[in-house]
Amino acid sequence: MKNETAAALWSACLEIVRKTTSNDVFEQWFLPTRGIAMQGNVLTVEIPDKSYYDYIESHSADVLREALDTVMGHDSRLRYSIAKKSQLKAPVQVAVKAEKPRFSPQLNTSYTFSQLVDGASNHTALSAARTIALSPGKTAFNPIFIYGGVGLGKTHLAQAIGNDILTRYPDSRVLYVPSEKFIQQYVDAYAQDRRNDFINFYQNIDTLIIDDVQFFSGKKGSQEVFFHIFNHLHQNGKQLVLTADRTPVDMRDITDRLLSRFKWGLTVKLDVPDFEHRLRILEEKLRREDINDIPHDVVAYIAKTVNTNVRELEGVVNSLIMHSTIVRRDITLELAVEVVSQFIKTSRRELTLDYIKSVVCETMGVEPALLESSSRRGEIVRARQVAMYFAKTLTQNYSLQQIGSYIAGRDHSTVIHSCKTISNLIDTDKKFKMRIDEIKLKLLSA
Ligand code: ADP
Ligand code: MG
Repeated sequence: MKNETAAALWSACLEIVRKTTSNDVFEQWFLPTRGIAMQGNVLTVEIPDKSYYDYIESHSADVLREALDTVMGHDSRLRYSIAKKSQLKAPVQVAVKAEKPRFSPQLNTSYTFSQLVDGASNHTALSAARTIALSPGKTAFNPIFIYGGVGLGKTHLAQAIGNDILTRYPDSRVLYVPSEKFIQQYVDAYAQDRRNDFINFYQNIDTLIIDDVQFFSGKKGSQEVFFHIFNHLHQNGKQLVLTADRTPVDMRDITDRLLSRFKWGLTVKLDVPDFEHRLRILEEKLRREDINDIPHDVVAYIAKTVNTNVRELEGVVNSLIMHSTIVRRDITLELAVEVVSQFIKTSRRELTLDYIKSVVCETMGVEPALLESSSRRGEIVRARQVAMYFAKTLTQNYSLQQIGSYIAGRDHSTVIHSCKTISNLIDTDKKFKMRIDEIKLKLLSA
C-alpha cells in the first residue's frame, strides 16, 4: 500500500536526519511526524501543526534535503499536511524550499579541451583524456593519473575530461573535488557520525575527479575511505581521474594499497612546454583576447624567457594586456622586459661586457679581435658602436669610461657618440632597427 511506502521512506529520511540532529530537537520536531502518502515523486508528511513546518523549514531544510536526496533521489519533493485532529483550516502544502539544484559537478566550465593548446609537453595526456571522455570507465585508462609541476595544466585537463563527458552524457554524475575538500568533508562527516552517508554519496558518482591527491599524504582516515570508494567505483565501471604534482612512486605517507590503485590505469605526465609550444600558447591567448598588434619579437621574447609554466605565461600576457588597454602603453620589447621581470623570480643575470661583445660580434659577423683593434672599416666601426650602445642601455654597473676602454680602448666621448649614432639609426632605418631588436632579444634572453 502507498501509505506503507510513504511511512517507510519517511522513516528512512528520519534516520539520516537523526544523525545530525540533537536528541531533544529530534524528539520534539521530527518524532511526531509521519509519512502518509507517496504520489509520483511527492512524499506527504503529516505534522501536528504549522509550527512544525516553520521549525523544520527554517532549521533543518538542508539536512532534510540531503536525506531526501539520499533516500528518494534529487527530484523528490516534500509536502506537509497538518493532522486532522488539530483545529486545521486548509492543510499547509508547500514544497521544500531549499530544493537543491540538480547534482552539481563543481566544474569550471571554461576548462575545456578546446582551450588547451596541444603540443609535445601534453600531447599524450591530452589524447588519453579525449579517449576517456568518449567512453568514461570503459577504457583501460582507469584511473588516469595526471602528474606534473605547478601551472602545467593538470587541473584544466582533469576538468576538461569532466566537461566533455557532460556534453556527451548530460545525465551522468560527474564530480570534481580537490583532495583537500574531500579530506575536509570526510573529517566533518566522521565527526558527525555520517561516515556512511559520505561513502554512499561518493559511491554514486559516475566520474570522480580528484585533484592534487598528494595531499592525501599522512591522512590515514581519508586514504582508507578513498580506498573503498575507489574500489567500488572501479568495480562498477566508473571513471576515476586523479592528478598530483608527482608520480605515485614519489608519493609519501600514502599506503601501498592505495598507491598501487593509482597505478592501475594510465599514468601520464605534463611537461614544461618547449619554446615552440609556449609560442603557440601565447599566440592563442593573444588571439582569444583579440590582441594582434604585439610585435613578433616581443611574443618570442616572452616565450623564450618565461620558461617555467603556463600559468606564468598567462600572467605575463594578462599584465601586458592590462598595460596596453588601461595604461595605453604600446607593447614594446621594453615593456615586455619590465613585465617579465616581475614574473620571473630568479632575476636575469647581469649582462657582462664580454657577453655583449661576443653576441654583437656573432650576430654582426665580426671577428672579436677586430672589434678591439683600431680598424676603421665600416662594419667594424658599426659593430663597435652597437656593442657600446648595448653596454650603455642594458647594463647599470659600468661607467662610460669603463665601457669605452673595455670594448675597444676608446674614451667616454666615443661611447656617447656611438649611442647617439645608433639611436638615430634605429629611428630612421627600419631594417637596422630589426637587426638591433634581434641582438637585443638574444642579449635579454640569456
Ligand atoms: P596545474 O593544475 O597543473 O597547476 P592549471 O590547470 O591550473 O595547472 O593551469 C594553469 C593555467 O594554465 C590555467 O589557466 C590553464 O588554463 C593554462 N594552461 C595550462 N596548459 C595549457 C595549454 N596547453 N594551453 C593553454 N592553456 C593552458
Ligand atoms: Mg591544479
